Amino acid sequence: MNQEEIDSLVEMAKAEIEAAEQETTAVSSRFPSVSVDDLPDSWREAMARAGWAKLMPVQSKAMPYVMANYDLMVQSRTGSGKTGAFILPILERVNPLLDACQALVLVPTRELAQQVTDEAKVLAGETGVRVTAVYGGVGYGNQLQALRQGAHIVVGTPGRLLDHLLRRSLTLDELQILVFDEADRMLSMGFYPDMKQVQRYLPQRRVGSFMFSATFPPRVLSLARQFLHEPDFMGLSTDNVHVAETTHSYIVVPPTDKDRSLVRLIEVENPDSAIIFCNTKMKVNYVRVVLQRFGYDADELSSDLSQKDRERVLQRVRDGKLRFLVATDVAARGIDIPELSHVIQYEPPEDHEVYIHRAGRTGRAGASGEAISLVDFTEKMKLKQIAKRYEMELEERPLPSHEDVARVVAERMTVLLETKLRERDKLQTERMQRFVPLARQLAESEEGLSLLAMLLDDSYQLSLHTPLPAETAAEAKRGVEAKKSGRSRRRRRSSRRS
Ligand code: AMP
Repeated sequence: MNQEEIDSLVEMAKAEIEAAEQETTAVSSRFPSVSVDDLPDSWREAMARAGWAKLMPVQSKAMPYVMANYDLMVQSRTGSGKTGAFILPILERVNPLLDACQALVLVPTRELAQQVTDEAKVLAGETGVRVTAVYGGVGYGNQLQALRQGAHIVVGTPGRLLDHLLRRSLTLDELQILVFDEADRMLSMGFYPDMKQVQRYLPQRRVGSFMFSATFPPRVLSLARQFLHEPDFMGLSTDNVHVAETTHSYIVVPPTDKDRSLVRLIEVENPDSAIIFCNTKMKVNYVRVVLQRFGYDADELSSDLSQKDRERVLQRVRDGKLRFLVATDVAARGIDIPELSHVIQYEPPEDHEVYIHRAGRTGRAGASGEAISLVDFTEKMKLKQIAKRYEMELEERPLPSHEDVARVVAERMTVLLETKLRERDKLQTERMQRFVPLARQLAESEEGLSLLAMLLDDSYQLSLHTPLPAETAAEAKRGVEAKKSGRSRRRRRSSRRS
């Protein structure tokens, strides 16, 4: 898919977002919920294999839809039992005697692919239903073998699935069920163009399609409309489709290593966009320099800036062209900036109320938001007081280790490189072969490995400067409009709190 095609898809998505926002409403379930007593013996046996005595709410409510082949979007979090909600009925619906892929589960990461596959294998037991995981960054051998044997359920990440579809090692002619798991994460990782390509390989006839997502911001709703046929919406924690939620968390970090801890957090968390608050303009300047030197697209907002420079920075944020804005509270006061996926507090504020203003910059316009604070031991006490005062749930998160960072970066890089490789034409692929002996030789010595690591690092740095996907930027713009109504809502909320 070339850039022009991607752009036109994104344009279409924008128009559909508008329509989806207006048309999607939560409905009461059109099928009665089921309980264990309603289930056939085969399902109960499957549950017994997994050690489950009862169904979880998402399972009771969503399973009848999958059985009836009626398209559905479900708002559900990891840990709610959503995997069982689609795997149990899928096991019932696939024909083990037909050696073809009959159910496809699209997931954003290889870990999730493996997790869903493992759970499906336990539930399948000895029924003869074969499940396989398909994801990038590993050799093709085992995957090809499993697909050749006729895996009935394929769980995979979009890029590698696309490779198999292109090579015809996977065909979807017999597909009955399509599931999108953690749909919001898939989109934030920029899988949308790959998913549209996968869609080209789906059968012409209608395939029952189901989407599970922790949140349904506008871009996920638009995606749902493109892949699902007149779906019902099931919100399990609320009847409202726009679940605006901010998670408040903190990470205890060594005071002398806060800057590097911030970098580790950013790598692992991979925010679409974030505002990073510091208490002084000196700190703002320092953090901005650190982020830029690490290669991030970052800029600062402090009272030292001229009005012209201030406007320039703000315009970049509004256009969705700046990923990280580092600011003091004073400089950020009253500015009109759009929806941000993350608010990072490099240090908690002196004044309790300021915390609420900072955190209020995320979790709006139907998206989920993250407010993360980096604290040392004394600051942790201060933060706990703030949480107590505002009756906020505050979660402690571990500081990502160097190994966590290396793993996440490796995964992201592999997806990026595999996408690039797929886009090469025949001539480019042929030309590239000249370097295969060198690559092999470099991989064999420490010096050679450093050269390879440097190349990977260069590519990775370039990817850090990729502007936000157009959908996100469009969403960000809408956030400005949503802000006007959100502002009065927040004001009401904070006046209730104080
Ligand atoms: P999930 O939301 O699919 O990631 O599932 C979260 C966890 O809940 C997994 O460890 C499942 O094995 C477990 N689980 C799913 N369904 C049930 C159930 N009906 N009873 C008990 N545990 C369950």
